[in-house]
Amino acid sequence: MSACRGCGCPIDWIRTTAGRNMPVDPEPVFVVEGGGNDRFVTDEGEAITGRVARPEEESPALTVAFVPHWKNCPNAAEFRRRR
Ligand SMILES: [Zn+2]
Repeated sequence: MSACRGCGCPIDWIRTTAGRNMPVDPEPVFVVEGGGNDRFVTDEGEAITGRVARPEEESPALTVAFVPHWKNCPNAAEFRRRR
């Protein structure tokens, strides 16, 4: 685990199927695929689109994925510039 250069939060890096390293928040979430337009990445680096499941929707049948860090980073613009 490493730290975001923009906000200092802990992040993980996932290598996507496109061959790029993507910073993600370390806590995985349950994703309802096709339920929205948010982007996520699985631990195998596959990009998926959907939305975070509500707590009452969470189930092992759902896809577990990671939220790209720049979605939540308060300093995403600075973070991107520094990369
Ligand atoms: Zn950050």
